[in-house]
Amino acid sequence: MIVRLIVFITIFFIGWWLYRQFVVFKGQKTTSNTKKTKQKGTQAEQENMVRCLQCKTYVPLSHAIHDEQARPFCSAEHLKEFNQTN
Ligand SMILES: [Zn+2]
Repeated sequence: MIVRLIVFITIFFIGWWLYRQFVVFKGQKTTSNTKKTKQKGTQAEQENMVRCLQCKTYVPLSHAIHDEQARPFCSAEHLKEFNQTN
């Protein structure tokens, strides 16, 4: 009787474990789909890249800082440095 109970509990836990694995797998699949969507968004941003005049680094237009003459910079510090050196 006790052996049957142990077998029943073991089967129950294996079933529960398999269910957990399935849920985790499903969750990973959803996460990868979200990542793909995010990568698409990044690609769209990369189409609008501007070059920082100070360090020559390409930055997304939405992250760039522009001075009064619409010159792009990666950060406020580089805008300042550029204005000091020129
Ligand atoms: Zn810069």
